[in-house]
Amino acid sequence: MGIFSGLEGLGIDLKEQDLFADKSKEPKISPEQQRLEEMKKKEEEEKDLLIRKSYVCPCCSKNFKSLTVKANKGRLLDQDIDLRPRYDEVDKTKYEVVMCPECGYAARVQIFNELSEKQAKLVREKISQSFKSKTEDPDIYTYDESIMRYQMALANAMVRGLKSSEKAFLCLKMAWVIRGKKEHENFPADSPEVKKTEEMEQELLKNALEGFAKARSSESFPMCGMDQYTVDYILAALFYENHDYNRCLHMISELLTSQMTNPRIKEKARNLKDLIASEKK
Ligand SMILES: [Zn+2]
Repeated sequence: MGIFSGLEGLGIDLKEQDLFADKSKEPKISPEQQRLEEMKKKEEEEKDLLIRKSYVCPCCSKNFKSLTVKANKGRLLDQDIDLRPRYDEVDKTKYEVVMCPECGYAARVQIFNELSEKQAKLVREKISQSFKSKTEDPDIYTYDESIMRYQMALANAMVRGLKSSEKAFLCLKMAWVIRGKKEHENFPADSPEVKKTEEMEQELLKNALEGFAKARSSESFPMCGMDQYTVDYILAALFYENHDYNRCLHMISELLTSQMTNPRIKEKARNLKDLIASEKK
């Protein structure tokens, strides 16, 4: 571009530039860059919503700190069909497992202190002996970190011989975290990453169904803090998610005909019934 020739003397070289080029049409950032930046931004914002809470490990007696969501953060917006809660700002389900970084003892926060001496001995033998203690102190638990914590809680539950309902509940919550990971990572729907997380989620939903079905015929209520009708509704939803529509509809009709079922669960059962009817069309 001749009209700028001579400016080189001032250190400015615009000879190759087009005077009337439309800058708005130039590519900005790629979808992949944008995806990563959105993830990073959300993770950065999450830091301010958390606090470090102190625990004494009932297994090894050491003190440690674990991240938890501040009491006034994460408002419940909605629930998925299987009662997975959806919160604004932060996915609280990610923070529901407490793990001792010294010995590897891990459990849902509600039952973290419920460890008998016999169970502690089993955890020390089967988990702590080979556990590599974690020294880093992260600002947030990423989805992968949270999934690892649920895996540890499940391993502990197995070693301790906890009830089927507790193991089933951990599988269900871990499936919820994996669903959250899929949403957070926001990969294109046909990508191998989405396929992988969906397979993992399905495997956990299958185990959750197996565990709750077993618990339903052998345990008494409340189960993991839930009454019979909530558990029966979850079972119906799990039958649905495992594509067993007949058993799902059977559970729904029992929930709807019982006078004991609370109106909130009845409404969810009706919605699930409508969903199946619309899918059958
Ligand atoms: Zn410990």
